[in-house]
Amino acid sequence: MSTTERGRRLSEDARDFIDDSLLASYLDQPADPGQVRDIVAKSMAKQPLEVAETAVLLNATQRDLVESIFDAARQLKRDVYGNRIVLFAPLYVGNYCTNDCSYCGFRRSNTDAVRRTLDSEELAAQVKMLERKGQKRLILVFGEHRRYSPEFIAESVRTVYAVREGRGEIRRVNINAAPQDHAGFRTIHEAGIGTYQIFQETYHHDTYAAIHPAGTSKADYLWRLDSLDRAWESGCDDVGIGALFGLYDWRFEVLGLVAHARHLMDKFHCGPHTISFPRLRPASGVRMNEQWLVSDDDFKRLVSILRLSVPYTGMILTAREPAALRREILGFGVSQIDAGSRIELGGYTEAGDAQQQIQDREQFELGDIRPLDDVIRELLVEGYIPSFCTACYRLGRTGEQFMEFAVPGFIQRMCTPNALTTLQEYLVDYASPATRAAGERLLAQQLADMPDGDRKRELLRRLKRIAETGERDLYY
Ligand code: SAM
Ligand code: SF4
Repeated sequence: MSTTERGRRLSEDARDFIDDSLLASYLDQPADPGQVRDIVAKSMAKQPLEVAETAVLLNATQRDLVESIFDAARQLKRDVYGNRIVLFAPLYVGNYCTNDCSYCGFRRSNTDAVRRTLDSEELAAQVKMLERKGQKRLILVFGEHRRYSPEFIAESVRTVYAVREGRGEIRRVNINAAPQDHAGFRTIHEAGIGTYQIFQETYHHDTYAAIHPAGTSKADYLWRLDSLDRAWESGCDDVGIGALFGLYDWRFEVLGLVAHARHLMDKFHCGPHTISFPRLRPASGVRMNEQWLVSDDDFKRLVSILRLSVPYTGMILTAREPAALRREILGFGVSQIDAGSRIELGGYTEAGDAQQQIQDREQFELGDIRPLDDVIRELLVEGYIPSFCTACYRLGRTGEQFMEFAVPGFIQRMCTPNALTTLQEYLVDYASPATRAAGERLLAQQLADMPDGDRKRELLRRLKRIAETGERDLYY
């Protein structure tokens, strides 16, 4: 059994698999166009890339090579995910924090932050408001503090699932919270969570040490790097990794993410369910170090190269990014976005739809604060299918036993019909007239493109049941 310096028990065979000098040595090599083409072809055959292969794509800076990477990422996204975009909303439960991460508005030394933890009634009130808007999938977010024990997190999850507002219900609760020990992960898993998400922030050891002060629990790089291994060993076989871009060289972080995904794949025979790639945003009292901020152009490369490196991993683009950029980046391989998001504590009821942000209660500023209905309408107009599907995890289709993309025809048989029935629920129960009209156009188009047969007949029956008999939550 291995432990960290603080005596906390790590996963079995825990090891620090990030070798900074090795990763750095891959970068700044001249890119050979032939090699870039071969690696892109490997991605297009839906094979995950080695870390060194990802580095070749990162080193490809000539315009024509960059364009070929963009084109390939767009194509791969269409091949693997089709045109579905899964929607969710973040729900901040508490912002007390004992850590002092230099980039975060919740850090303990930020005396301007108004500290608050939602009690169960306040939490339920937030959930009711989210259900009234049509949300079905949430991610609960917590600072790192003894108040947010595994039992507290599990209880919050149960509270959320129990809320029913009209026809509304939350069908999947994901978590973004502190790394736990094995027992803690088990407790939270038993509450019926979807994904447990933990971002390494930066994979670069010296940078990590510089921005996470010694003496705080987050200062322990290995405790965090190993956290999703412990989650896995405790029954959470649905995990999300991420890096906060803008803390160090974005190319190094991409290599760190790919190394992390490969580590999970090697050890547990299944990679992470999702990768997040938030860019650093202005936050209360945070001095941004300009040196590593990622430009929009580099951000597009980053997303495309990640898409090509991990063809089967879901990619999350958050509302930290402004609407116009989100629109463009979606095509490069994103599979999930949040919409209608508020990140102030209590923000869904207390700030309403007023497009105004409450600085002192926020962790950072959002770039896209449009209401859910506006985002859904835009997706529909652009030809995407907004999806609230939660079928896989509720039917136990997670982890090593199940990789949706390994099952032939899975997307046509399950994902697309499930996306369309959840869209139909939204159109009937929540959509504005303009969104409903756009949705009906998209549904008609999707049905027209679908070959006739049993599958299409069953889908038509389900869409009708939802619209006419009020049945809900029909899924494969
Ligand atoms: N306290 C837990 C932790 O640190 O993992 C979970 C919650 S924390 C609020 C969630 C994530 O927000 C962090 O992992 C970090 O990547 C991100 N974050 C913090 N400050 C940010 C900023 N200024 N801009 C963008 N994202 C930020
Ligand atoms: Fe606390 Fe997480 Fe913010 Fe760090 S990133 S200060 S751990 S809430």
